[in-house]
Amino acid sequence: MARFVRFLCSALVLSLLLTGCQTAPKAHDCQFVAMDTFMSLTAYGENAQTALTRAQEEILALDTALDVNNEKSRVYAINHRQQDTVPLSGEVGQLLSLSLELARETGGAFDPTIYPVVRKWGFTTGAYQLPTSHELEQALSLVGHEDLFLGQGSLTLKEGAQLDFGGIGKGWAGDRAAQALREQGIASAILRLGGNIQTLGTKPDGSLWTVGIQDPATGDNLATLAVADLSVVTSGSYQRYFTVNGQVYHHIIDPATGLPADNGLTSVTIIAPSGARCDALSTALFVMGPDGAARFWREHRDFEAVLVFDDGSVAITNGLQGNFTLTPAFSHRRLEVLE
Ligand code: ADP
Ligand code: MG
Repeated sequence: MARFVRFLCSALVLSLLLTGCQTAPKAHDCQFVAMDTFMSLTAYGENAQTALTRAQEEILALDTALDVNNEKSRVYAINHRQQDTVPLSGEVGQLLSLSLELARETGGAFDPTIYPVVRKWGFTTGAYQLPTSHELEQALSLVGHEDLFLGQGSLTLKEGAQLDFGGIGKGWAGDRAAQALREQGIASAILRLGGNIQTLGTKPDGSLWTVGIQDPATGDNLATLAVADLSVVTSGSYQRYFTVNGQVYHHIIDPATGLPADNGLTSVTIIAPSGARCDALSTALFVMGPDGAARFWREHRDFEAVLVFDDGSVAITNGLQGNFTLTPAFSHRRLEVLE
């Protein structure tokens, strides 16, 4: 009997050892272009391939619903409405509701009604142009989240007002894709929606995901962040821009002026659980500038941030200490920790 128990125990140890030595779960990938950007989704575990297909479907459906240039999109229908009040419910209604909350919270630095101005600059079509000050003034008069009224199943906009979810859509899509994976039982995944990163759980071996942050000036890897179950979203003046007579005009617009935000920041990265919140805040804090961004963080503290300035220096919020590392080539950069 004792021998049998000893045999059972060693069989158990052996099987535990074997489990420990098992090869890591296979990574499943899914790559495609949506929302005007390259996307790459990686998930681990059983059912990963089916789950990734579901996540991709979520993203593609949102792309169709939110695309300002697609005549079949919900947003196009709103922007080209015949009456001031249009029916609005479902997911686009939820996204608009969240966008309006974020617009209020950021004092209008993030504003989903910025489209008339963004369109004047040509940022949504790529047909870039310098608007005249008269054109800008006229477009700006149509902007204002305070003038929207979102009721039960309907939306009322003032004449000429138009929506643009370009500053939040990818983050929202990342949240929906992550949710689709969770519903399929996936516990470990990393989703790259252009520059928006969404992580689900940890890596299969329990370690943190490593996410790179780009140096806005060179495009090289400035720093790495170690994260789990978090979204990492960057807004930068280097992501979409054009140049006229040596002057750079980028796509993050200050709704107060109608001009590209120009305040000494070259990128803002936000780290928080919700991709949509990260996305809207990365745009908003970029508009707020260094002091406004630091103040907003101190007043909220429900997210972390990395700010890169046009002199190359970097500021991180104190919660990132220990998980943020400048890469060796950039270790000489001035690094401030916001408290
Ligand atoms: P990216 O799309 O490159 O990830 P952002 O998340 O910062 O970068 O979004 C920029 C886009 O958001 C612009 O292309 C435009 O469509 C829209 N946008 C620009 N300025 C604002 C703003 N102040 N508030 C809301 N949306 C904005
Ligand atoms: Mg954004």
